[in-house]
Amino acid sequence: MQIFLYILGAVVAAVVALLLVAVIRAAAIKAKPNTNKSEISYTKQEEAEYASKLSEMIKVPTISLRGQDDLTQFRILQDKMKEMFPLVHEKMERVDIDGNLLYRWKSAHPERDGLLLMGHQDVVTATEKEWEHDPFSGDIENGIIHGRGAMDCKCTVMAEFQAIEELIKEGYEPERDIYLASSVNEEISGGGAIKTVEYLKSQGKRLVAVMDEGGAVLADAFPGLKGYISAIGIVEKGYADIKITAKGNGGHSSTPPKNTPVARLAAFVNEMETKRPFDKKLGGPVKAMFTTIAPHLSFPLRLVLGNLWLFKPVVIKVLPALSSFGEAFLSTTFAFTMCEGSQTPNVIPDQAYVICNIRPSIHQNSEQSVEIIKKIAAKYDLEVEVIYSRDASGIVDINGDEFKYMVDCANKCYPDAIPTPYFMFGGTDCRYYEEVSDNCLRICPIRLSQQQLKAMHAANENINTSALAESVKFYKHYVKNHS
Ligand SMILES: [Zn+2]
Repeated sequence: MQIFLYILGAVVAAVVALLLVAVIRAAAIKAKPNTNKSEISYTKQEEAEYASKLSEMIKVPTISLRGQDDLTQFRILQDKMKEMFPLVHEKMERVDIDGNLLYRWKSAHPERDGLLLMGHQDVVTATEKEWEHDPFSGDIENGIIHGRGAMDCKCTVMAEFQAIEELIKEGYEPERDIYLASSVNEEISGGGAIKTVEYLKSQGKRLVAVMDEGGAVLADAFPGLKGYISAIGIVEKGYADIKITAKGNGGHSSTPPKNTPVARLAAFVNEMETKRPFDKKLGGPVKAMFTTIAPHLSFPLRLVLGNLWLFKPVVIKVLPALSSFGEAFLSTTFAFTMCEGSQTPNVIPDQAYVICNIRPSIHQNSEQSVEIIKKIAAKYDLEVEVIYSRDASGIVDINGDEFKYMVDCANKCYPDAIPTPYFMFGGTDCRYYEEVSDNCLRICPIRLSQQQLKAMHAANENINTSALAESVKFYKHYVKNHS
C-alpha cells in the first residue's frame, strides 16, 4: 500500500512539474507587439493612380471556362497593360506562349538564378446574385475597389507590374534577372504555368525564388489572435478525385433484394464519415506555423500551442473536433461530392457511384490514402477508380535564405503583422515551378479582412485602395533589396 502511495505521489509530482514547466514557458514566450514603423510609404496620388489601373483591369472580363480557349478578352487586357506599364514593355523581353506571358528583365548577371513574380490574368465567373456592384464595373468607392479579380488576383498582377515599372523608372539595375509571369488559365488548371515552366527549362533557367498567390496579410486569421498575420505559403496539399462504384443486379423496386448498390455505397460513406480513417499527425509546416503564432496568442492557447512537446497528443485529439480546418491541418481530408444511381424512382440500379474528392496530407500521400479507401470499399464489394491524383507539393525550407528574406521583408513592410509559414489546403500554379526553383513562396502581399477573404470566388470581391498601394511598395522593396 505504501509503495502504491509513493508511486502515486511520484506521478502526481511529475505531472505538476511538467505543467509548471509548461506554464513558465508559456509566460516566457509571450511576444511584445511590434511597434516598428513600416519601411514602405505611398502618396495619396499614387494610391489613386494604382486603384484606377486595377479598376481598368477588372473591367475586362477575362473569365476562364473549361473547354473554351478564346483569348479575345485576354488580348484586350494585355493591350491595356501595354499602355499602363510602358517601361515594362520597353525594357523587358516578352514571350507570349498562347496568351500566357513571361517577361524577363535581363540583368548584368544572367548566369545567376532569376527571381520570378507571378499572378494569373484569368478570373472565375461572377454569376452570384448578391453582387452589390456590377462585378466588372471596377467601381471605386470609399477607398475600396470592387469587382471580380480585385483580389484573385488582378491586384497581384497590377502590383507586380507597377513595382517593376517604378524600379525601371528609378534607374534600378537588377543583380539577377527579374521575371514576371502571368497565365490565362490558372482557375481551370489549364496548363499555362506548365508551358511557361517548360519554356524556362528549355532556356536552361533556374529561379532563386518564385512568388505567387496563396497566403496574404490576413486579419483575424487564427482563433485567439487579434490583428494580422503575414501568411507565407510553403506547401500545398495534394488532390485526388476517386470514383467508388457499386455493381449488382438491378430490378423492380417492389421486390428489392438486400445490399443493393445504393445501400452498399451508403454503408461505405457512413463508415468513412464516422471512422475518418486517415492518420492524424502534427508535423513539419503545421507545427512550424503553430510554434510561430503561439507567442502572440492569449494565455490558454499559448500554454497549449507553445508547449507542443507536452500537449501534442491532446491537440491532435481536440483540434479536428473543434473545426474542419483542424482536421485539414492534421490529415488527408475527404468529401463526397457527386453521386448517381438509377434514373427512375422505381428501378433499382445495377450500378451506382459516388465521387470522393480527397486532399492528401504530406505524411500520407495520394497512393497511401487511396489504399485506405480501397480497404474500406472492399468490405462492401465496391470498385475504386482513381480519376486524377497528385501528391502534396514540396516544402520550402523555412531555415533557408529565401524564406528568411521573405520574413524580413514582411517584418519591414508590415511590422504589425506576424510573419508565419502557412500550410495551404488548396492548390496554386506555383507548384509547377518546383521544377525550376526550390523556393516557391505563396503569398500575395495584400491586407485582407475576413470578409474580403471569404469573397474569393464569391460575390462582392473587393480590396482596399490602401492595401493595393502597400502591395506595390512591398514588391518594390522585395525586388530591390534581394541580394
Ligand atoms: Zn488565384
